[in-house]
Amino acid sequence: MTDLPAGYRALDAKALANYLAELKPVALRLGGSPQSWSIEEVGDGNLNLVFKVHGPAGGVIVKQALPYVRLVGEAWPLPLSRAHYEHMALSGQRRLTGALVPEIYHYDERLALIVMELLEPHIIMRRGMIAGTVYPKFADEISTFLAETLFHTSDLALTADVKKAMIGAFSGNTALCKITEDLIFTDPYRIAKLNRWTRPQLDPYAERFRGDGDLKVAISRLKLKFLSSAEAMLHGDLHTGSVMLTAEDTRVIDPEFAFMGPMGFDIGAVLANFLISFFSQAGHEEGPGARDSYREWILETFTSIWEGFAAKFLALWETQAKGDAYPSDLFQGPLGVARLAGERQAYMQRLWADTVGFAAAKMIRRILGLAHNIDLEWIKDADMRARCEARVLTLARDMMVNSGDYPTPQSIVAAARHFDQWQPPLGG
Ligand code: ADP
Ligand code: MG
Repeated sequence: MTDLPAGYRALDAKALANYLAELKPVALRLGGSPQSWSIEEVGDGNLNLVFKVHGPAGGVIVKQALPYVRLVGEAWPLPLSRAHYEHMALSGQRRLTGALVPEIYHYDERLALIVMELLEPHIIMRRGMIAGTVYPKFADEISTFLAETLFHTSDLALTADVKKAMIGAFSGNTALCKITEDLIFTDPYRIAKLNRWTRPQLDPYAERFRGDGDLKVAISRLKLKFLSSAEAMLHGDLHTGSVMLTAEDTRVIDPEFAFMGPMGFDIGAVLANFLISFFSQAGHEEGPGARDSYREWILETFTSIWEGFAAKFLALWETQAKGDAYPSDLFQGPLGVARLAGERQAYMQRLWADTVGFAAAKMIRRILGLAHNIDLEWIKDADMRARCEARVLTLARDMMVNSGDYPTPQSIVAAARHFDQWQPPLGG
């Protein structure tokens, strides 16, 4: 590797202990001597090294980027600069949302390394939902996260100079954006080496999607929006594997895909993962119907996430619109106020339509593309898994191509209930 910055080296447990011992506030937080610290590499993600460090007084997480994709190895290089963007996004999200993301204790640009708050006893949300765990506060907390991070980094809140500086600051995260552009917006709709799906059961679906002109137009419109609409700072990978939580406390982690993009991409990511979880329940329940009340919670939460987001976003717009968009001079007097109120509703309707499309894109990529979700992957019976996946695909295809048929979250909930009862034909 020739392009490694001077001073970069991937740390092992021993090197990490020596490194942390020199960071006085971190060493104090851990307590005791470096010899007494336990260090465990826990990265279950695809890209980076993640160490959990415990000392007698407390713990920290250390996340270090590697110059390649961890899952694949050196054959797939990936820039270390992703740690820079992750740190920048995490700092911004921390400022905007308080404790909805981990606290940062230390950042080392040369080592592409972040030392942050150890979330304990939090677990990855996806795993909790596979186990059927209800999270009563999640809809409220994630809708706050979305409203605060998206509103305050948009032209509704920022003056044009500040907004353009943000676009500049994130514009170098091209390698991570390219992963999304390929794996979400392109590969599932063409023959691509990295694609995989449950075979032979889903062969007819994969083939049909590759020949579906309406679908290819719809995904290409979404890709264009992803490429060109710098609406707000996105997390960029906001699935239920990027949330760690308990019944009491929700945290969003892992914003290395952050960039200035279309808001519906983040909102859609959360909603897509709720729909995937909904359809996967048939593969996890003890017997048919055993998870019915859990299914209800998922669908109620699905609706509450959008409704909570919309209410909070509109409230911010009404009270904190300091940006250059919609100049107040143009909307004076009762008529102007009414006109602006109507326009806000139209804006939210457009954002909802984007959200539906991006959610659909995220659902399809998890079934026909490279990276799958354990919600579905852990269903051992391949026919059962394929039935769940075919339901996800069929709803997602309709959401993307006929998005006008889904003007509200309730309309998607109704369709999800319908498709959950449907017995899809399988190939093979
Ligand atoms: P990657 O970008 O490689 O996917 P993640 O940031 O998703 O890495 O972290 C990988 C795993 O490490 C998470 O799934 C989680 O289990 C653990 N992890 C990451 N950050 C924390 C944290 N702050 N506290 C506790 N565990 C964490
Ligand atoms: Mg990641």
